[in-house]
Amino acid sequence: MKITRIEVYAHTFKLKTVYRLSGGRVYEGMESTFVALHTDEDLTGWGEGCPWGANYAHEFVGGLRAGIAELAPTILGRDPVGVEAMTEVMDAALKGHWYVKSAIDAACWDIAGKVARRPTCDLLGGQYGGDIRINRGIQSGAPDDMLAQLSKYREEGFDTFSCKLSGSDLTADIEGMTALLTSRLPHERFTADYNGGLSVADAITFSSAVKDPHLTIEQPCRTYEACAAAAPKMRHPVRLDEIILSPADVHRALSDGIAQSIVIKIGRIGGLTKARRIRDLCALSGVTVLVQDSGGSDVSTAAIASFARSTPPAILHSGIDLRYFADHVVFDGLPNSVGGCLVPSGAPGLGVEPRSDMLGKPIAVYEL
Ligand code: MG
Repeated sequence: MKITRIEVYAHTFKLKTVYRLSGGRVYEGMESTFVALHTDEDLTGWGEGCPWGANYAHEFVGGLRAGIAELAPTILGRDPVGVEAMTEVMDAALKGHWYVKSAIDAACWDIAGKVARRPTCDLLGGQYGGDIRINRGIQSGAPDDMLAQLSKYREEGFDTFSCKLSGSDLTADIEGMTALLTSRLPHERFTADYNGGLSVADAITFSSAVKDPHLTIEQPCRTYEACAAAAPKMRHPVRLDEIILSPADVHRALSDGIAQSIVIKIGRIGGLTKARRIRDLCALSGVTVLVQDSGGSDVSTAAIASFARSTPPAILHSGIDLRYFADHVVFDGLPNSVGGCLVPSGAPGLGVEPRSDMLGKPIAVYEL
């Protein structure tokens, strides 16, 4: 089998609700990129890449699309089924730029599943039982507002929550987080996610002021060194997210004693192939993982569901459903989202196919 044609589709989503992160970052929409890999055996694989906003991390949508153009001559004519080999080829042709490769990688895994007539999770490690809890975001605001969000999501069946805190008003953050934890039910799990928005001093102050220990503080500071400096002086465990890009990052965090749990953002680290390497290292080391992506919609959610299904329950904290962000659906065959859990479709590959007329014309086509 060989790849004969690559189609790249640009797609704009509005966010269902305006999304705010620390540092005054505000997002009202997201630019996604869908990639179709066509083969000489009439099988097509789909992938999606969406770096969220350009001021979120070290990636942006223009770079993703330029990178695919750079890689296209290299991957045309190659067999998509040997995904590890494809990863080596892409890394040899374009150093770094992991987020560029993730959509291609997902499309290859989609094809590999279709060839095997098995869902992709079977090829990523098998199907473990157990629920894939969805980590539901709570936006920062006044305590009553945050409690209202919690109440709504709780009624919908969620029990795992990630509070996106501002970092600009530490007193308000402490009040909001304390209000949520005061109403915490015994089985509920809470994260305070700062997306790198705190200084070392404020990270320590926040953790000291929030007395309830049932909390994990995610990516409190921007750099690894700052997180490592703050972590020993914080009363809550620290989770690393934006600075985890490779197995070496996990090794380092393990050595320094600050890797109880990490976030695997599939798109940022280069796709399912590299996510699997990090996940397997975490399984060997007893590090809990949250399976997510920076942004995206249907295809990325299918990839998250597939990857989470193939992750040992002992280390799986949660997945995420990106469709809570996007204002519309583009693909059919999506994972179900039931009672706060994500349920993969079980169809071959990633199980998604585009709805007719939803994608429009490709912005780029590369052919053999
Ligand atoms: Mg995070």
